[in-house]
Amino acid sequence: MTELLKRLARPLVIALPLAAAAAWRGALTPGVVLFLTVTTIWIAVRIGYEADPLPVTAKRREKRERVLISLVALGALYLPAFKIATPLLDFADYTTPIWLLALGSALAVVGLWLFWRSHADLGRNWSPVLELRDTHSLVTGGVYARIRHPMYAAIFLISGAQLLFLGNAVAGPAGLIAFGLLYLDRIGPEERMMADHFGAAWARYKARTGRILPMAGRRDPDASG
Ligand code: SAH
Repeated sequence: MTELLKRLARPLVIALPLAAAAAWRGALTPGVVLFLTVTTIWIAVRIGYEADPLPVTAKRREKRERVLISLVALGALYLPAFKIATPLLDFADYTTPIWLLALGSALAVVGLWLFWRSHADLGRNWSPVLELRDTHSLVTGGVYARIRHPMYAAIFLISGAQLLFLGNAVAGPAGLIAFGLLYLDRIGPEERMMADHFGAAWARYKARTGRILPMAGRRDPDASG
């Protein structure tokens, strides 16, 4: 419990002043509160898994990965923070009906759960960028059992919630666009990296899973009969 509070404290140090700034200028909408809550939670979850990773064996596309991560930080964190704290993006504001906030909350709950579970299942194999670690093991259980990229699916859901929560035509879709670009650019190389490293085990795993949507109805080649 105290561990969780400690983890929540770090993102709250930023989220609370942002909320105060929005309140100060009369812009603390329910959507902004929801966005700050969801962002605080996913950062707190991630902080817990950043400590103690396995050493890295093989880095891939280092510079490109750094650019992509910065782009995602811009779209998912910096632009929203700018939108919340300053009036400079207010020209792009629109009113979000309550049912869209409810839909965003549903996406966020599923997304946060999947984000947490994929971190828990991936454990010390996780990297923010494309790379392989020493004694890297292929994770095929938990939320990885039906989807090969549950963490990316989770980030899409959370970015979708950002779009619905922020009610701003610039900062709202920014997370989805930035992460969409990272996903499109990385997914091919990531799957090739896994195929090169894990060979037949990856091929078998790939045959019974979907990329970001659970595979239904595809035959499991490991299953008998
Ligand atoms: N694409 C996965 C993981 C994202 S983290 C997801 O969306 O859930 C990215 C790192 O995870 C990659 O650099 C790779 O080293 C590692 N990785 C991806 N899939 C993995 C798996 N099934 N088992 C172990 N490591 C994996």
